[in-house]
Amino acid sequence: MTFATLGLIEPLLRALETLGYQTPTPVQAQAIPAVLAGRDLMAAAQTGTGKTAGFALPLLQLLTLEGPKVAANSARALILCPTRELAEQVHASVAEYAQHLPLTTYAVYGGVSINPQMMKLRKGVDILVATPGRLIDLFRQNALKLNQLQTLVLDEADRMLDLGFSEELANIYRMLPKKRQTLLFSATFSDDIRLLAGQMLNDPLSIEVSPRNVAANTVKQWVVPVDKKRKPELFVHLMRKGRWKQVLVFAKTRNGVDALVDKLQGLGINADGIHGDKPQATRQRALDRFKASDVQILVATDVAARGLDIEDLPLVVNFDLPIVAEDYIHRIGRTGRAGNTGEAISLVCADEVNMLSAIEMLTRQTLTRKMEPDFEPEHRVPDTDASGQVVKKPKKPKKPKASGGGGKRNLGKWVDSGDVAPAEPSIKPVRKVPVFNTGPRKKK
Ligand code: AMP
Repeated sequence: MTFATLGLIEPLLRALETLGYQTPTPVQAQAIPAVLAGRDLMAAAQTGTGKTAGFALPLLQLLTLEGPKVAANSARALILCPTRELAEQVHASVAEYAQHLPLTTYAVYGGVSINPQMMKLRKGVDILVATPGRLIDLFRQNALKLNQLQTLVLDEADRMLDLGFSEELANIYRMLPKKRQTLLFSATFSDDIRLLAGQMLNDPLSIEVSPRNVAANTVKQWVVPVDKKRKPELFVHLMRKGRWKQVLVFAKTRNGVDALVDKLQGLGINADGIHGDKPQATRQRALDRFKASDVQILVATDVAARGLDIEDLPLVVNFDLPIVAEDYIHRIGRTGRAGNTGEAISLVCADEVNMLSAIEMLTRQTLTRKMEPDFEPEHRVPDTDASGQVVKKPKKPKKPKASGGGGKRNLGKWVDSGDVAPAEPSIKPVRKVPVFNTGPRKKK
């Protein structure tokens, strides 16, 4: 199959040729004809499957071939993304695909001044990529009207709900014309996503390109058990031993990112970090330098790494496991993209056992454990498997109390280290999607 047989027009084929895309990926093969035919879509496709081109190419074609010119302060298509980085990334891809088309594209997001965005929207744009909060601000300030909107894309919808954007989505839903095409992409499909899809989509075609909630099988994954306090040391050891060249590392917290970057830089290792406390320009610079291989190790929190698209990234390291199991799939989706192979290594300590178990259950696999000599943990990581079971070693019998001892003096002393209780919940509660009381959608 080729892009030409999918019915794409010549200016798009020319752009794809320049980009070196030869064959459509499975999500593209399914999505492109369906979107061209005007269908709504509900697509289970994780990052790295080529989903962006899957919605952007047919969207660009429809906008080129039909519809009136865009009016002032209007957009003909809207792509909603959970983060600024993803919005930038998606916009960059759309602009590349549109390079030979007479269409305008633009991205708006928070964290930067709104005025230049309002100016830019005056003439209207054919495709607007936006994060939810900034979109609402622009709408409320009358910088953007949505009555000309013909297509809405919800990209990484699961992530939008995880980040607490359900209220914003409900507000945006009320601003949209009833007659429109809607395309929903999500790596995972929770009940909340299905509820959202039920309200937003009209007789959608379902596309599933990888088994539900299972990480890309081109990624070789394993776990190295280690004591929490020895993680930085183990990371440096593995890095040197494996001669890692370009690694994306995930840490759970902003402080965790800063601490690891400080430690690595202190050892003369070329590392940088991105997290939500850093200004947008600094984050973008770090990303660009990492992509250009000027930075060897990029340490990131989940939110900051969203939308990061680096071709052929060979390795992702989970310095900490994510609290939300679905984030594991997003993280390792950074490697093994578009058919390449990749590796994902997780450094796991005893108090992350419940998170490990949740990940194994979600991805329906028991992750291989590889002990690193000299780093075997004192606090054993209890056995886990894909059934979600955490197998605890039986407690050692308590030693009899010394005569006259009593009280709480020895409490905890005889508890086997394998019984260390998990510190965090394995799954973060997801905010409920508000029920949209707008009545049934009109048929197109
Ligand atoms: P995405 O899943 O949209 O984030 O895309 C993942 C990566 O695959 C991006 O770097 C795209 O440029 C690349 N890509 C998408 N479609 C194709 C294709 N048909 N052939 C080769 N590379 C592709």
